[in-house]
Amino acid sequence: MAPMIEVTGANKHFGDAHVLRDIDLEVAAGEVVVVVGPSGSGKSTLCRCLNRLETLTSGEIRIDGRPLPAEGRALAQLRAQVGMVFQSFNLFGHRTILDNVALSPIHVAKRDRATARAEGLELLDRVGIADQAGKYPAQLSGGQQQRAAIARALAMRPKVMLFDEPTSALDPEMVSEVLDVMVGLAAEGMTMVVVTHEMGFARRAADRVVFMDAGQIVESDTPDAFFTGARSERARSFLSKVL
Ligand code: ADP
Ligand code: MG
Repeated sequence: MAPMIEVTGANKHFGDAHVLRDIDLEVAAGEVVVVVGPSGSGKSTLCRCLNRLETLTSGEIRIDGRPLPAEGRALAQLRAQVGMVFQSFNLFGHRTILDNVALSPIHVAKRDRATARAEGLELLDRVGIADQAGKYPAQLSGGQQQRAAIARALAMRPKVMLFDEPTSALDPEMVSEVLDVMVGLAAEGMTMVVVTHEMGFARRAADRVVFMDAGQIVESDTPDAFFTGARSERARSFLSKVL
């Protein structure tokens, strides 16, 4: 079976800065890969390239066997297949929580309005905030907003979910309510790439930990092997700061 995500020889430059260097990465269907590494190592850029918010300078990315489309309708479909959750929740502030979840299914996926709203409510229930459906984002806590953002991404029935530091902007007491939703998704078999500093989540939910430094993948191993026996000096130095 082809990997769900296949990155081959990926390079990304911003002007003179070479921020992704010959990245090769395969993520199997249902696999949960946690990406860690120092600030500026290219983790966000890698995520953004995976759903083509950024374009590679060279190399190739395939999702479920297909190369990333360059533009147009095919790109919109890809974005639907690859859900992304950011540090800042990026909800539409002037729309209710349920609207936030149902709008793309209605307007992009062209689903029936009633069905989309019913599914949206189910998703809000699944992330534990069905009672917030009629409120506006500003009326919710950060943890609730981030769970709404996860529901919104799931509403497009993605094959892959990308998370870029989804709990970094949250007050500490709200981190676990978001991580619990992510652990549940992982248990249900979602293919996930998660950039996070939450090493507890990595231990609990990751099949594999990928350590990036200076635009390269330096290590890729099971959580156990990574946390107890990281081989490279760079990874050991990073771990000594975060554990
Ligand atoms: P991380 O998420 O690991 O902290 P990033 O992927 O955000 O790292 O950034 C990797 C490098 O690329 C950094 O040096 C950053 O300054 C640079 N970079 C990221 N986005 C841009 C951009 N749009 N323009 C120029 N440089 C960028
Ligand atoms: Mg980042």
